[in-house]
Amino acid sequence: MSAPRLPRKLGELAVPTNRRPVGSLTLPAGTDIDVAAEAALARPAGEREEPVLVVWPDGRCGIVPVMDVLAAMAGRYAKLTRTDQLTGLPNRGMITAEGQRRLDSGDLVAVLHLGLDQFQDANDVLGHHGADALLYRVAVALTAAHGPGNLAARLDGDQFLVLLTELPGGHTAQSLGRQLAAGIRGPHQIDGLPIGVEVSIGISPAGHHDFQVLQRRAAAAMRRAKQERTGVVEWTPGLDSTQRVDLRQLTELRSGLKSGHLRLHYQPLHDAVSREMNGVEALVRWQHPQRGLLPPGVFLPDAERSDVILELTDWVLAEALHQAATWKRNGHHVPVSVNLPAAYLAQERAVPTILAMLRLERVPAELLTVEITETAVLTRPDEVAAQLAELRLRGVRVAIDDFGTGYTSLGLLPRLPIDELKIDRSFVVQMHESAAHATIIDSVIAIARSLGMKVVAEGVEDEPTAADLARAGVDLLQGYHLNRPTPPEAVPLLPARPLVPAA
Ligand code: C2E
Ligand code: CA
Ligand code: CA
Repeated sequence: MSAPRLPRKLGELAVPTNRRPVGSLTLPAGTDIDVAAEAALARPAGEREEPVLVVWPDGRCGIVPVMDVLAAMAGRYAKLTRTDQLTGLPNRGMITAEGQRRLDSGDLVAVLHLGLDQFQDANDVLGHHGADALLYRVAVALTAAHGPGNLAARLDGDQFLVLLTELPGGHTAQSLGRQLAAGIRGPHQIDGLPIGVEVSIGISPAGHHDFQVLQRRAAAAMRRAKQERTGVVEWTPGLDSTQRVDLRQLTELRSGLKSGHLRLHYQPLHDAVSREMNGVEALVRWQHPQRGLLPPGVFLPDAERSDVILELTDWVLAEALHQAATWKRNGHHVPVSVNLPAAYLAQERAVPTILAMLRLERVPAELLTVEITETAVLTRPDEVAAQLAELRLRGVRVAIDDFGTGYTSLGLLPRLPIDELKIDRSFVVQMHESAAHATIIDSVIAIARSLGMKVVAEGVEDEPTAADLARAGVDLLQGYHLNRPTPPEAVPLLPARPLVPAA
């Protein structure tokens, strides 16, 4: 699959003429798109929408509408977020979109999920650099062996995926899997050492029209291959029933919800410049009578695969708004953000329920922000956009959570009804290690600014990161460096901790 070449220089966006237009910003045709976008956005508010004038060395001129400059920058951003930086393979977002696109166009699609065995050992023995080199070699072996028309991707860490729309002559999915395993096995020469790699492969045969279902089946088959050390396992319906949701825990959660065992912790968001607290995000926990306080990762994934998530979200909304009302009665106007799963918003009663809860607690709608993930918006774009638009009309704020991990092209942003973008932790964590991630953050900020959205950075774990994000123009910061999630009584309602000067 070849992507069209993306323009890098401003001159590529305009047609040179001999006329000489006038305007507030004139730049040489050789200016990088990113630099041009920044300059365009740096103009005073009234001039920001004006086109950019381009001059070529021979004196000819041209005009570029400002949205074209931003869209070109967005295109570069989209490519960065679709590609795994280490191996150059498509990433999870990209392969998911491509797989679903092929299914929608009527292709039969099978999925192979590959997980390297004991990769942690390779990390320990070879160090980060060597382990990265090994992952690169695995990626090369993978792309070499699966035939044209098929596509390999790196999901994350040591997990890869191959999307199969055709089988090379004489192969079954199983035999192709074994051939891939042989290629990956090596040995690969890393820092002069011959290194072998074992891999477990799960196959989901064609036969479902939802790519996420195929992906889940292949992952379940891979886990089975790992447990049984059999190398390659093909998914069958029987395999699902042994790895289904933990029904006992789900039943317990349902009754825990009724018996009042759920808790909300609140993590402050801080103004990036003044560092004052500027709201909180509500995060659910389960105070389990035997197992102690459980984080959402333990029980939410199962809840989200059943309708318990609807009841749970009703509870979270009610509790968070009740807390906001309590704070308000005590003189603190604390904006509260609540995570909303796509399934909740898909209900017709979602908006009326939220509005009724606001009225009941006498909390102004402006104090509530709903956070919804990029993937959720994309799986049901029309319903979700309509619901979000109605909420906004009533004053509720809307944030896109985990931004950058999904497949939203920045070009789509102007069409979504949103107030706030939360840049995913994975970008924030890597901003000091990778120029590409720093560029993505800069692009997101520039575009969000031009659309009047606020930008939040999550996962801020140290002061250099906080300072750099503030300099880059992020509005709000959230992360362990500033505050961890706490029970409501421990939320620091007075201005947040002052900046501690470095020793
Ligand atoms: P999220 O919405 O992205 O929430 C942020 C998560 O990152 C929280 O994890 C928070 O404790 C953690 N975090 C905050 N700062 C840092 C940091 O500096 N470093 C690191 N490593 N982590 C940080 P938590 O509370 O475990 O929640 C995990 C996820 O569970 C949330 O991710 C959200 O997707 C989901 N979740 C939590 N509460 C709810 C809820 O009430 N409803 C729904 N639907 N989902 C929820
Ligand atoms: Ca969130
Ligand atoms: Ca998030």
